[in-house]
Amino acid sequence: MITGTATPPHPTRRIEENVVKVSVDQDACVSSGQCALTADDVFDQRDSDGVVELLDANPPQQRLRDVQSAAAGCPAMAITVRP
Ligand code: SF4
Repeated sequence: MITGTATPPHPTRRIEENVVKVSVDQDACVSSGQCALTADDVFDQRDSDGVVELLDANPPQQRLRDVQSAAAGCPAMAITVRP
């Protein structure tokens, strides 16, 4: 039986599979700052009012635990994470 080699995934698809998808709802944010304390490479707070700013909407999978922790600790449930 002849078996072929699998075609590698498209490079763009491979990149997308290795990132976390993060979004924030600035209207729901109550400026508590927990997310920025938990993952300061992904979240920051606006200087004027402390509302969340998303620094990285697609952090690497290695950051998944901290990003999920930030979402779980958000009192306004303003963070959505898709692994
Ligand atoms: S933890 Fe939630 S409420 Fe607090 S700053 Fe971050 S997004 Fe806003």
